[in-house]
Amino acid sequence: YTRKIKRHCHLPAETIDGSRVQVLANIELVEEVASVLDNGGEGVGLYRTEYAYLNRTDLPGEEELAEKYIDLASIMSPKKVVFRTLDLGADKFISSYGELGETNPAMGLRAIRFCLKNPQLFKTQLRAILRASAHGKVSLMFPMISGVKEVRQAKAWLAQAKAELRREGVEYDPDMPVGIMIELPAAVMIAEYLAYEVDFFSIGTNDLIQYSIGVDRTNHHVSYLYQPLHPATLRTIKLVVDAAHQAGIEVSLCGEVASDPFCVPILLGMGIDSLSLTPQAIPGIKRIIRQTNMHDCRKLLKEVLECRTVGRINDLVMDNIFKHF
Ligand code: PEP
Ligand code: MG
Repeated sequence: YTRKIKRHCHLPAETIDGSRVQVLANIELVEEVASVLDNGGEGVGLYRTEYAYLNRTDLPGEEELAEKYIDLASIMSPKKVVFRTLDLGADKFISSYGELGETNPAMGLRAIRFCLKNPQLFKTQLRAILRASAHGKVSLMFPMISGVKEVRQAKAWLAQAKAELRREGVEYDPDMPVGIMIELPAAVMIAEYLAYEVDFFSIGTNDLIQYSIGVDRTNHHVSYLYQPLHPATLRTIKLVVDAAHQAGIEVSLCGEVASDPFCVPILLGMGIDSLSLTPQAIPGIKRIIRQTNMHDCRKLLKEVLECRTVGRINDLVMDNIFKHF
């Protein structure tokens, strides 16, 4: 059965009635590219760059990063690679900076906040990503954005990195798309303003569910409350998709929800442009998309948005799965 699914994984993710969705891969290491291509990934939608900084006592320098990033961009070319800038902090610390002594690290100095506080570290990475952009189809995105000012600050560092490279005569793609991850309820509420600042959104539901339902994604005592099909989660995602499309930018989803067969038809109904998921899950999700029709997804979405409880939504989603698969 697995072999049968895999055989079709290089076909496009197109619904029966002709809607195309891009199916991309989440990776943590450059070495995973083989698995991305083997499983029919149409690009890398989330490269979690922080993994190259973990489990070592020193920091990677620009040359080391650039070499790795150029390899990734050129192997994947002409398929795209979305580099997420460092998401350190919360549960991922680097020894060079030590423990921050925070009582609530998930709400502390993590991701873009950490980078803006450590501009040298940030700029080294930005320069390496820019250098890779001359070798393939590279995009960049900033994690954990909470407001417009943060995006502008991050973009100012990017502009400075570009100016330096230009002065040094180093090549980069001047039109490299820049996006942000939507992972905080604050970003959802001002998605309309954030959309003016960037070229695309990527919804990080792993964190967005954690921060909107108020449930630590790693705490097993409350994991029963971590619900992708919570009416609030679905409304939240829809707000972001609508805001992006209203502003004419693309929106992707790169949390675990993207590999959940129960959630994908609802996301299609919302009009999500791309999904990014663990490489091994790509063949199965592509198959579901190819057996679905958009008309039914929109109908399911409409029904689901009228439900008041997760239980009711689960029932509808189950019915839908049994009807189609
Ligand atoms: C997310 O939060 O959904 C996400 C994709 O980022 P990470 O899992 O790396 O925090
Ligand atoms: Mg996240």
